[in-house]
Amino acid sequence: MQTTLMIHDGPAPADSDILRTGGVPLAPAGFVWPVCGCGGPLQFFAHLPVEDGVLSVFLCQNDPGACEFWDATSSANRVHLFPREELRPVVVPEAGLTLLPTASAIRTQLVTFDPEEADDEEGEPDAYDVARSGWKREPEEQFGKQREVLGSLGGSPSYLEDDRLPACPSCTGTMEFAAHLEEGMTRETAMNLGGQLGYVFVCRSCREGAFLTD
Ligand SMILES: [Zn+2]
Ligand SMILES: [Zn+2]
Repeated sequence: MQTTLMIHDGPAPADSDILRTGGVPLAPAGFVWPVCGCGGPLQFFAHLPVEDGVLSVFLCQNDPGACEFWDATSSANRVHLFPREELRPVVVPEAGLTLLPTASAIRTQLVTFDPEEADDEEGEPDAYDVARSGWKREPEEQFGKQREVLGSLGGSPSYLEDDRLPACPSCTGTMEFAAHLEEGMTRETAMNLGGQLGYVFVCRSCREGAFLTD
């Protein structure tokens, strides 16, 4: 079994076209900053270059208890799949919670393990859970570095009930899982996910994205 973990890799330039959390979104011309049902602008969380573009993740933080960013059908989150070309830093709205305090670079690390060795009494081990809980910077390290893990790319959603898999708003097909997102290491760099795990989905043919937490 394999998991591509996303690992915190120090500060990043705010407008870089690399895997990162925070900073300024890069978008094609004509991009309009997404707005929540509460009336406030969404906050930009992550810039995730993938095979066929860039996933750009936004969540509303104006009223975290009331704005339902955990729900894929809510207006309190937005995932765009932009083409990789002709992206430029966008103009940030002057008011509201729009940006994280700092931008953090992410590096990917392919983690391979033998399902036979995973310590799971009930059936199939969860690939992401095993990879994350076992993450250490160096093999000889005694303790894990789980807070360095900012999520993973591809694979399958971790412990998510089938009835929570989002349908594409355009074609109504079941969306493909794209990434997990974890809150992050420190108060300065963290994305507020309400203490939960974030899930990013995509419909590549419609170029639609979705987000939920669980
Ligand atoms: Zn809101
Ligand atoms: Zn679709």
